[in-house]
Amino acid sequence: MKVDILTLFPGMFEGVLNESIIGRAQKNGLIELNYINIRDFADNKHNRVDDYPYGGGQGMVMQAQPIFAAYNYICKDIGKKPYTIYMSPQGRSFRQSTAKRLAKKEHIVILCGHYEGVDQRILDEIIDEEISIGDYVLTGGEIAAMAVVDATARLIPGVLASAGSFSEESHYSGLLEYPQYTRPAVWNGREVPSVLQSGNHKLIMQWKREKSIENTYKKRKGMLRRAKLSDKEREFVKNLEKNC
Ligand code: SAM
Repeated sequence: MKVDILTLFPGMFEGVLNESIIGRAQKNGLIELNYINIRDFADNKHNRVDDYPYGGGQGMVMQAQPIFAAYNYICKDIGKKPYTIYMSPQGRSFRQSTAKRLAKKEHIVILCGHYEGVDQRILDEIIDEEISIGDYVLTGGEIAAMAVVDATARLIPGVLASAGSFSEESHYSGLLEYPQYTRPAVWNGREVPSVLQSGNHKLIMQWKREKSIENTYKKRKGMLRRAKLSDKEREFVKNLEKNC
């Protein structure tokens, strides 16, 4: 998968995305990340990329021209319009399902806004989808773009050691994950549940599923309404309700 990121601050990305799992995925050729500095495409001698908003108002607005020139630079060799996302607090909420959908694409372009945002006309011209990482306002789209790239890239086959690494995780199947433990078996007087030490695979699987449902019930009850549960599991939820 190739991801081209249009930004005024390319230096923000490398320290984060060149480390750990996503850094390794780049080295292994599973994902290619390119940072395109919008300022390099300004057509004025001071490399200015923003201006005052029409109609007045706070702050500065990123101009359409340098963004469009940077975008055309990306498009020139591929001969088709790449799927293009604008990071925006006005966009649809980014979810695990969004990451699953994006992970199937061969090429995406992500536009990061800054200051008061970008001229609406460039959004109308090139953007397929606006994505928000939450109902709050960041200073720029860079941190949001990193979250989208990280959550998406780890779903690309080969990036994690096995598909099981993410398919059992929170949100993938509509539930939160069960609690995790590692060595030692007793720490600070707290013991790892005995079933996890039993070696009984069937019991362990059942424990994980029940704890996953219980965790979801305790932390994000709303998710359980949409989760796929068997009749027996629905009974289990009813019992949780009675005991809480
Ligand atoms: N004036 C804009 C508004 O009220 O919708 C907010 C601009 S914000 C200060 C600057 C840039 O940060 C935006 O253009 C966007 O790219 C990015 N941004 C801010 N909050 C975001 C969020 N929750 N999710 C994704 N991107 C965000």
